[in-house]
Amino acid sequence: MKLILLGAPGSGKGTQAAYISEKYNLPHVSTGDIFRQNIKDQTPLGVKVKQIMDSGNFCPDDVTVQLVEDRLQQSDCKNGYLLDGFPRNLFQARELDKFSAPDVVIELDVDLSKIEHRITGRRSCPKCGNSFHVDFIGDIKICPDCGETLIIRKDDTPETVKERLSIYSKQTAPLIDYYKQQNKLVVIDGNNPVDEVFKQIVKVLG
Ligand code: AMP
Repeated sequence: MKLILLGAPGSGKGTQAAYISEKYNLPHVSTGDIFRQNIKDQTPLGVKVKQIMDSGNFCPDDVTVQLVEDRLQQSDCKNGYLLDGFPRNLFQARELDKFSAPDVVIELDVDLSKIEHRITGRRSCPKCGNSFHVDFIGDIKICPDCGETLIIRKDDTPETVKERLSIYSKQTAPLIDYYKQQNKLVVIDGNNPVDEVFKQIVKVLG
């Protein structure tokens, strides 16, 4: 199964992707995670995209598309993939259709007011990559999973979140229509609790 998770930043894509990936044995391919790992490792790609990412803007299309094309050619993707954070605009979606068109696109639909709260309260672990919300962990500074000091991602600050949401509605939201026209779109109400959202996804995927 080739699956795309679509949704605004903070819609819960990363959380649901982890559950889906485990249940359906699909490799979770998150372009954001790949870029963050490159920044951490200070690779040439990481150096190139660091400033762009910190400002909340998109990394260049050519680099991103090539990255995904290469990743999907790896052996673990031979039976499918779970894409999270890609495609993010029509150009990327059309390119993906050329080398590995998706079967199903799940859109996590979440109210904007909820999204701002979710992102600005997010604390991320730079080591294991997990993230938590202050509503649930309080002011704990240490990752409950691996003990590393939690951080606020540079692109999770209130100003940057506004910028990311504006870019989302201009560039990524048109993908909803793109996949609707291809009869591949399934909309899930992402305002519900995590377990409930996952149940709905399983209902759709079987
Ligand atoms: P995410 O973790 O998916 O929110 O992505 C974090 C950041 O990585 C984005 O704000 C972009 O700067 C960059 N990024 C991730 N995926 C893409 C993509 N498909 N196209 C361009 N930039 C991306």
